[in-house]
Amino acid sequence: MAWGMAGTGRTRQPRWRHRLGTLSPLLLGALLVGCPSSPDDSVPDASPAFTTGPPAAAPTGPTGARWEIVEMLRDARDLSHHPSDGGGHASIESSEPPTIVAGGTGRFTLLYEVGPHGVATNGMIFLQVSPFWGWSTPQVTQATAPGYTTVTPIPGDIALEPETLDRQLLGIRNVGRPLALGDRIRLVYGAGAGAARVDRYAERGARFWIAVDGDGDGVRAVLSDSPTVDVTAGPPSRMVLTAPTIARPGAPLRLTVAILDAAGNAGTPVTGTIIVDDPPDGVSVESPLVLTPDDLGRGTLIATATEPGVLRLHVTGPGGLRAESNPIIVSAEAPRVLWADLHGHSHLSDGTGTPADYFTYARDVAALDVAALTDHDHWGILKLDEEPTFWEAIRAATARFHSPGRFVTLLGYEWTSWIYGHRHVLYFEDDGEVLSSIDPRYESPRQLWQALAGRRAMTFAHHSAGGPIPTDWTIPPDPVLEPITEIASVHGSSEAQDTPSRIYAAIPGNFVRDALDRGYRLGFVGSGDSHDGHPGLAHLGAPAGGVAAIIADEATRPAILQALRARRTYATNGPRILLQVALGAHPMGSTIAAPDDDTLIARVVAVNPLARVDVIRSGAVAASFRGDGARESAVQHKLADLRGGEYVYVRAVQEDGGAAWSSPIFIE
Ligand SMILES: [Zn+2]
Ligand SMILES: [Zn+2]
Repeated sequence: MAWGMAGTGRTRQPRWRHRLGTLSPLLLGALLVGCPSSPDDSVPDASPAFTTGPPAAAPTGPTGARWEIVEMLRDARDLSHHPSDGGGHASIESSEPPTIVAGGTGRFTLLYEVGPHGVATNGMIFLQVSPFWGWSTPQVTQATAPGYTTVTPIPGDIALEPETLDRQLLGIRNVGRPLALGDRIRLVYGAGAGAARVDRYAERGARFWIAVDGDGDGVRAVLSDSPTVDVTAGPPSRMVLTAPTIARPGAPLRLTVAILDAAGNAGTPVTGTIIVDDPPDGVSVESPLVLTPDDLGRGTLIATATEPGVLRLHVTGPGGLRAESNPIIVSAEAPRVLWADLHGHSHLSDGTGTPADYFTYARDVAALDVAALTDHDHWGILKLDEEPTFWEAIRAATARFHSPGRFVTLLGYEWTSWIYGHRHVLYFEDDGEVLSSIDPRYESPRQLWQALAGRRAMTFAHHSAGGPIPTDWTIPPDPVLEPITEIASVHGSSEAQDTPSRIYAAIPGNFVRDALDRGYRLGFVGSGDSHDGHPGLAHLGAPAGGVAAIIADEATRPAILQALRARRTYATNGPRILLQVALGAHPMGSTIAAPDDDTLIARVVAVNPLARVDVIRSGAVAASFRGDGARESAVQHKLADLRGGEYVYVRAVQEDGGAAWSSPIFIE
């Protein structure tokens, strides 16, 4: 999904020039899509912007289509610009304090130097700080308030009129003589007592976007060398201990420890020792983990468990930080569970941080087995489908981090259709293309599936019940390319009206359960859709997140593709819950002719106490079992008279709202 601003255009010659249209402030406001993890910037969850229908003159189309965004993107794409747009050079002279901490404040001195094409009278220069994550809006009227910005021309005979044009956007109009090569403008962002509030998510290369409308016609272009600053994690605040869900008796068991700040950011230098507290009988741990500042607060411990059963380990670290692991099921025969986050964003669209930082967090902090970075095809200050270097950066990082057997990466992007709903596309091979949702060849789901036919690829509809845009479920998902749907993410759950952490702006009748009632056979995954650079742990900074459990014997692309196509998956909204479900001998995700055994069996081993375990049969809750505060539950439920066309799945809900959803079992 998406939040952010749009309005940039495609790359043109000269190479480093990018067009931006004029932006309607109202529309931009609507595009800063509410997100549970960005309360400062969010518009209300139920913003009318999400639910208003198409304007009178708009083409007809699916319920929920966001025609105003489509029109804006098309307009921006079709703009023409003057050679002076995007001209000149920008740099950062200083930032104070020397280390900029997430969620803190800073003062930044930027220098813009006019290029050879100049800036005409009435031309404009823009400072756009990231429209995400709480940077102060640059403003020139309140000297003591955050974001106060001074604008100083060099030399002094230049006449400028700066004005805040929108959230995070300052425009500086040239009201005097034309500016020429050699003229400069110094900007101090955060010049007043209130300084400037910065991103609350740590990231390398947070950009101060400088744009220029050189001829004053209202069309601007971004300087690709717009200066950047690194934002580092805040003080240690929490520790996360992650273990494999399934461990084999006697085999080495890797425990991943990460010390994070209050917003879930990693990377704080920490010194100290981490020990496993009182390991139970049958569990041995290799020497304690000693962290040096170079470890940036993360490391691994190797343990061995010999006795079958459920294990929860505890660790104590520096500063008294403590953590409990997710449940570990020590078993010789339980099918292996791989944890995946198949959907998230970096600063190459509207997220935070670099692709390498994204995969590093996924592997070393969140201890995922599988990760995909899926930046938007055409959304953000600059657009992936117009920047070949962006796609190359994603491909290179995906290839570099791919380590079969240990950590699987998948190449992907988000097909960000504001007509039919968003889908992310994953390739299970080294190469793939960005088939853009605004390219007339790929602008409908059917066109997308035609283009992907025969490929080792999959598509996943997400935030499908509502959120920033619902999925058009009148189009049946391609059974080969889309056998799975993302049911939970930071946007909430799209499962059903009665789901825990229901998605905002949900459209009745458009939930995943309604899609199943149409006869679609969809398995379930969760994924973070994280924009904060925290794949696998998006729920730390939001009321809910999402991860996918994939039942596969080995961590390889072919095994994962096979498991996904067979719907051997379940979803959670963050916690690493074990969920095993079968109808007779048939595991979750199966399609069966007629049940030889009509007893549904479910086993849940939760992270926190369970509120209930629900059995959902063909559109309704057929049975609900109380959790009674226990963290484990075993359920058996007879499903009398199962008929062709029916489906059944299990939903486990913790008292804290954490939840897991099995893929359904379908009766043919
Ligand atoms: Zn997304
Ligand atoms: Zn999306």
